[in-house]
Amino acid sequence: MDAFRASETFGADSEIPENATGSEEGLNRSRAYPGTPESSESQFRELFEILPDAVYVHRDKKIVYVNSAGVRLYGAAGPEELLGRSTFDFIPFDWREIIAARMDDMVRRNVAVPLLEQERLRLDGTRIDVEVAACPCMWEGKRSVLVVSRDIRERKKTEAALRETEAQLHGISANLPGMVYQRVRHPDGRVEFPYVSAGVRDVLGVEPDAAMEDPAVMLDLIHPDDLSNVMGAIERSAEAGEQLDIEFRIVQPSGKHCWVRGISRPRPRDDGAIVWDAMMFDVTERKEFESALQRSEARYRRLLETSPDAIYVHFRDRIVYGNEAAVAMFRAQDRDELIGRAAHTLYHPDGLELLSECRERIRTSGRVSEPVEFRLRRLDGGEFYGEATAMEVDWEGEPAIFVIIRDVSDRHEAERVMERLNHKLLQQTRELRRSNSDLEQFAYIASHDLQEPLRMISGYCQLLQRRYKDKLDGDANEFIEFAVEGAGRMQRLISDILTYSRVSTRGQPMTLVDMGKIFADTIANLKTGIDETRATVTADPMPLVKADGSQIGQVLQNLIGNALKFRGKSPPRIHLGVRDMEDHWEFSVSDNGIGIEPKYRDRIFLIFQRLHNRSEYPGTGIGLAVCQKIVYRHGGTIRIEDAEDGGSKFLFTIPKSED
Ligand code: ADP
Repeated sequence: MDAFRASETFGADSEIPENATGSEEGLNRSRAYPGTPESSESQFRELFEILPDAVYVHRDKKIVYVNSAGVRLYGAAGPEELLGRSTFDFIPFDWREIIAARMDDMVRRNVAVPLLEQERLRLDGTRIDVEVAACPCMWEGKRSVLVVSRDIRERKKTEAALRETEAQLHGISANLPGMVYQRVRHPDGRVEFPYVSAGVRDVLGVEPDAAMEDPAVMLDLIHPDDLSNVMGAIERSAEAGEQLDIEFRIVQPSGKHCWVRGISRPRPRDDGAIVWDAMMFDVTERKEFESALQRSEARYRRLLETSPDAIYVHFRDRIVYGNEAAVAMFRAQDRDELIGRAAHTLYHPDGLELLSECRERIRTSGRVSEPVEFRLRRLDGGEFYGEATAMEVDWEGEPAIFVIIRDVSDRHEAERVMERLNHKLLQQTRELRRSNSDLEQFAYIASHDLQEPLRMISGYCQLLQRRYKDKLDGDANEFIEFAVEGAGRMQRLISDILTYSRVSTRGQPMTLVDMGKIFADTIANLKTGIDETRATVTADPMPLVKADGSQIGQVLQNLIGNALKFRGKSPPRIHLGVRDMEDHWEFSVSDNGIGIEPKYRDRIFLIFQRLHNRSEYPGTGIGLAVCQKIVYRHGGTIRIEDAEDGGSKFLFTIPKSED
């Protein structure tokens, strides 16, 4: 065995030489060393000179040899500056005790001491980090100690930088929303996770140590339905050397389900392993949002599809979406025939100006909310009328127009028919008004002009009666009597017709009149009849109304007069009531007279219609017809109800004036 195998001094795995001394324990950590034959010393000097590590030999604690690396390490100008100095000159005070003990042990047991990181002093007094090993040796024929020091300042710096980087990495990964980890796949297929950040607690619900110790801890969390997908993606990324970006479900040990996204990039390692530096974060919230969005989009799409109105989206001058109803309404073969088409081709040329106005409105205010009617063209050449509303929507980040069209052809047709009918009705009304006024004119003129000859007939008949009463026979007297009576009746009828026609021809303008005063005048006019029949006539407090005062007076006089005339057995009780309705007044004249059967209630308003003969009750049947005509002229209505005490109740309305 070579006596001085300096290189082995630093090795950790050399065997313990047979001639080693010292305790078993010491032997395990050091190695025994024999003496060095002088013949090889010069060879070692040469060898030491080219060594990068500092080597010096000391005897009795005094340095007797130092190589060039030693001179440099300890900061000397040359070896002479160091030779003869105590080895303790280079050991900081706080290290001296440890090193002295090491040395003693080495010498006592004659064993090498292994590498130890320690600090040394340079000549300028600065401390440096070194790794030192020593062994006893024979130098210049005497027992000496060989010390090898390795400058580890760079390594220390690198280690410190590494520690700093690690701390930074920890700091960063602790602040990341997800987890950072490293996955290694060894050539034999074994997988391990040498680094897993603390974020794994939040993302996967497991402890980082557990995840690093057993790869199954993380792999077992992948949702069974996603496992093959994830594994396949990892395989493909390994083969192609490409980034892996995959979303999948996991089931945390607590049973909680979540979605995660894993991003990593594979890199081959010298030993054939593949390393993925990876990060993973929880995307459950986004996933849930996305699926909620998808569901709501699907709902809206269904809504659009089931709409009976045609809906299309116009984007960059082309139709990009059309629903089923649009396909049907425009008689397209299918959606493809609609999509890609410029929307204006669906509109009749006479509506193009309106169309661009609508587009301008959408551009400035975002919508056309009032439906606009268009004449539209089907793809088969037909036409229809549609009402369009439209608004601006976002389509792939750009503005598009969303249009809803309702087919209003039927309504349009109905409106046309209605217009025609209205026009006809208007013509007929005009015609009717004209003929009505002609008739009234005729009735007035006729009755007025008839009065004169009738007066003559009646006058001469009466003259005949007076002068020849006793000169003619009984029959002649009777005939003359009939003629006089007939003429008288005819005069009354003609006068009634005249009164009736005068309602419209002689009507006065509407003014504000006091109904209380009109009622009082009426009572005064009817005083004799009231007194004779011992009637009681009462009234509610009366309002002011806008009316033709003398005509309304005529109505009251006819109605109260009738109540006196058609009285029952007991003295008449007549009441004029009034009710304030929202837009009109409702007046009522009720009595306790003979009443009117419901079946006659419409008929009696017709001119000359009466229910009794003249011998029972006098009259011509014009009164109620005149009342109705007057009430109609005022824009009101008239009707009959049963009065509370068995008589009749006439109700008529007068609209409230708008000013
Ligand atoms: P006249 O009084 O000249 O007969 P009207 O037009 O005033 O004509 O009345 C038509 C008919 O209505 C009367 O003949 C009578 O039969 C019935 N009538 C009108 N007012 C009353 C009343 N207050 N009570 C019962 N019957 C009435």
